[in-house]
Amino acid sequence: MRFTPDFIEKVREANNLVEIIGQYTELKGSGHRLMGRCPFPDHSDKSPSFSVSEDNQLYYCYGCKKGGNVFNFLETFNGMNFPEAVEFLARRASIALPEKETFERNKGISRDQKDLLLKINKVAGVFYHQQLKQLPPEHAAKKYLEKRGLNEETVEKFRLGVSFEEWQGLYKHFLSKKVPIDLAESLGLLKPKKAGKKDDSHFDLFRDRLMFPIFSSTGDVIGFGGRTLQADGLPKYLNSSDSPVFNKSRVLYGIHETGKFIRAQDSAIVVEGYMDAIALYSAGIKNVVAILGTAFTPEHAKVLKRYTLNVTMLLDGDEAGLNGAERSLPILLEAGMMPKGFALPDKMDPDDFVKAQGADKLREEVGRAPELFTLLLTKRWMADYHGSPSEKVRIVEEAAGALAKIPSRALMDLYLLEVARQLDVEIGWVRRAIAQKSQPLAGGPKPARPEPVRSGPVANAPAAPQDEAPQEAPEPEIEKIVLKNAPKDEAFILSLLLHFENLMVDLLDAGPEELLPLFSHPGIKRLLHLAVSKYQANPQAFHELAPSLATVVDNPSIIAVALTVTVEDGAQEGFERRLMTDYLNAIRQRHLKQQAKALASQLKDGVSPEKLEAFMELQRNRLAKKRDS
Ligand SMILES: [Zn+2]
Repeated sequence: MRFTPDFIEKVREANNLVEIIGQYTELKGSGHRLMGRCPFPDHSDKSPSFSVSEDNQLYYCYGCKKGGNVFNFLETFNGMNFPEAVEFLARRASIALPEKETFERNKGISRDQKDLLLKINKVAGVFYHQQLKQLPPEHAAKKYLEKRGLNEETVEKFRLGVSFEEWQGLYKHFLSKKVPIDLAESLGLLKPKKAGKKDDSHFDLFRDRLMFPIFSSTGDVIGFGGRTLQADGLPKYLNSSDSPVFNKSRVLYGIHETGKFIRAQDSAIVVEGYMDAIALYSAGIKNVVAILGTAFTPEHAKVLKRYTLNVTMLLDGDEAGLNGAERSLPILLEAGMMPKGFALPDKMDPDDFVKAQGADKLREEVGRAPELFTLLLTKRWMADYHGSPSEKVRIVEEAAGALAKIPSRALMDLYLLEVARQLDVEIGWVRRAIAQKSQPLAGGPKPARPEPVRSGPVANAPAAPQDEAPQEAPEPEIEKIVLKNAPKDEAFILSLLLHFENLMVDLLDAGPEELLPLFSHPGIKRLLHLAVSKYQANPQAFHELAPSLATVVDNPSIIAVALTVTVEDGAQEGFERRLMTDYLNAIRQRHLKQQAKALASQLKDGVSPEKLEAFMELQRNRLAKKRDS
């Protein structure tokens, strides 16, 4: 575990959920419950059905049933993983992160240094952005934005800026802000002069360019891209060099803003540059990210996989576009993703396409895009195919590289079938040809390769032995208590207990040992035990109970669900108690029935007076309960 539970709690308590969510949706109401329209992009909420509790620091949506605490919100809304959400909120609240827990394990810089570098980038970003905002409409930068159809909103969302022609604009700004010049140089923003004097030692790298800050998924400026504003300026695009905070081969441009749309739509469109991404975004296609002038890398795949497995590569319809796709395909397949591809007409970039044919047309094309494998097969490997045997051999050999990377045998079989169909040969021949070409396929069954098993089965089986975990360890996170598949009534009781202190007191008065055994779901049981012991240890902190436990479960909406009771029925005196009684009766009945069943099957194996007595007692209990209810 990276952070201690105490640290996580401290961070959570320092960030008011109402403030965070209030940035994304207008919340109305007072005191305990605030209502607003659901901010999640996959739920177009007409009437306000999203509730946030200031007291309990939880949110719950009646419509899409999402719920949880502040970490859960950022994970779902911004697509952060848990450590990122903790880091983001710690910084927001100016809580120092534990030094050993830096995420840049290989980079050898301290957390403080990293913070300083990010701060310098931020200063530069604000500087460029302010310069752009002050420009008159006839300036080349403004004209360019207008021509590309980028409105004020997009400029603000992506914090676009401008660098002027002068040589030391940023350098002088840094001097005035007392920015350590050597660090700014290490970020690639400044270059040293050959014979520099003090206060005249450096010049700006980015000059006369439209500036694109490059954000991490948590919203820090980690680098810059600049597009020349001169008609024939070279290079057309210039990026920050790699630095301790910036690594081109792992950055997906735009994801800090588009991640939530990618997650909501469960699909991503990958384009080649930041202008492409911004153009699609402002045309309303928001589930988009750009790679920065590199091929798609395994690091990109790792980042993107946190949001979706469904990727459509939008390729420039030229040789270079297909080249890039050919390099990307094995990486995407090896990562267990489902890549599709759409090749734009020749000499068109995504922006041209949208301008010429409209965003709807592009959406349609992306929607019916073929598998990237099939696209490459037909458009590239079979480009000048006339059907000769030697061509067939060459094509199979070209496809073999990608095929060898597919972890799923089933998918590979389908691709083999596709090759056989397109080349009009037997699938057996394709298999043999590939086996000859690539060693790992030789001789019947492939060596066992771990299937890309992820959350599903793992989450279902809390008691699963540890050695079944995937070899390639995912980001280490805290172990979650599994609430998946919990019976509705047991889940609701849990949530009620965490929201109403009087119910918790009732439970303790009645003696928890009487009640707890009634629950059948192991996750609910564990959480109830945890809740009771936490409450007994510190009854003053009742309100912290629900939001803090939401951190440790796999399905935090179960904890938040009782917000519905506060909102709808808060006015009715004692309503929560009646609800509780009803639900408890229901699970009591079920519990007795199950016990009776178990005993009955034992009786089949032979009757003893003790067993018989126990059975009679149970039946009496069940009848009594029936009369009560
Ligand atoms: Zn919703």
